[in-house]
Amino acid sequence: MDQQETVIPDSENRKKPVVFFVLPCYEEEEGLRHTADVLLKKYRHLVAVESISQKSRILFVDDGSHDKTWSIIADLHKSDQSTFGGVKLAHNRGHQNALYAGLMVALRSGCDAAISMDADLQDDVDVVDDFISEYQNGNEIVYGVRSKRAKDTWFKRTSAEAFYKVFNWMGAETVYNHADYRLMGRASLQALSEYHEVNLFLRGIVPTLGFKTAKVYYERGEREAGESKYPLKKMISFAIQGITSFSTKPLSFVTACGVASILVGIGIFVYVLISLFSGKAMAGWGSLMCSIWLIGGFLMVCLGIVGNYVGKIYLEAKHRPRFYIEEQF
Ligand code: UDP
Ligand code: MG
Repeated sequence: MDQQETVIPDSENRKKPVVFFVLPCYEEEEGLRHTADVLLKKYRHLVAVESISQKSRILFVDDGSHDKTWSIIADLHKSDQSTFGGVKLAHNRGHQNALYAGLMVALRSGCDAAISMDADLQDDVDVVDDFISEYQNGNEIVYGVRSKRAKDTWFKRTSAEAFYKVFNWMGAETVYNHADYRLMGRASLQALSEYHEVNLFLRGIVPTLGFKTAKVYYERGEREAGESKYPLKKMISFAIQGITSFSTKPLSFVTACGVASILVGIGIFVYVLISLFSGKAMAGWGSLMCSIWLIGGFLMVCLGIVGNYVGKIYLEAKHRPRFYIEEQF
């Protein structure tokens, strides 16, 4: 069996969880202190009302920033060692890897649940209360879903929503309008730790873990400080990353195009025969068109077949866990 044993806590053991807030940060010097203030307030409130354990932490992951991000995190830690933690990646590895690193540190540090959020406070911090109450109701994963995207630009909103639709059509699973604002319990973090792939696309992986899940709706605000670290180029490569990490449909598409091309070739062949018998044939044209479409189609089908094998190798190479047991008697 390729998994470690994890006991999913019952509601009694979910009462005062140790929660780690995990925030990946890349060049966030402008807004980080403000983010820390807001989160600290929320943290203290949750501890005061006994929603979370006082062993909970706010964990910043510096994703190889070149500005003062890390020294700010170090200062925060100095000011309150039991609350603020920091992890510094040696190089900029991208949001997904930074988040994964933080979640794994949280898991190893013994958290009961981890809440991932962006460092720019675009995701409404007050939703955390709902996350925790859903966790206490027995949900292992709680997704933050954007109810409206009014504050996003038209382009960002349309392109993002189109992406979710294409992604699901390609056969991968995502939660519509959910980014990486979510709570994951220890059992699901443990399951996630068994995914060893380098091309990470967490919002595609997490729904495939299964478990009991819930959704919490919120409105996404604007970035509090600094600029988006996801310019158009990164957004496009992130979308391509998502699709190519989860779907081999583009490979089947090549085969389908090949078959279509062969059908066109056959159609032209029939047309050539008809024009030959009706005496309207143009010398050379028919045979040329036939060969182009038939050979083109044949090559594409071959490519598709090779692609299918490559697709299988690619899925094997990921070494994804085959299953994860939720309960056993
Ligand atoms: N981020 C990161 N590494 C990167 C790019 C971004 O850790 O290479 C972090 C960033 O600091 C922020 C989160 O990922 O906390 C989301 O980035 P951003 O807010 O710029 O994306 P947007 O909200 O514009 O999509
Ligand atoms: Mg943002």
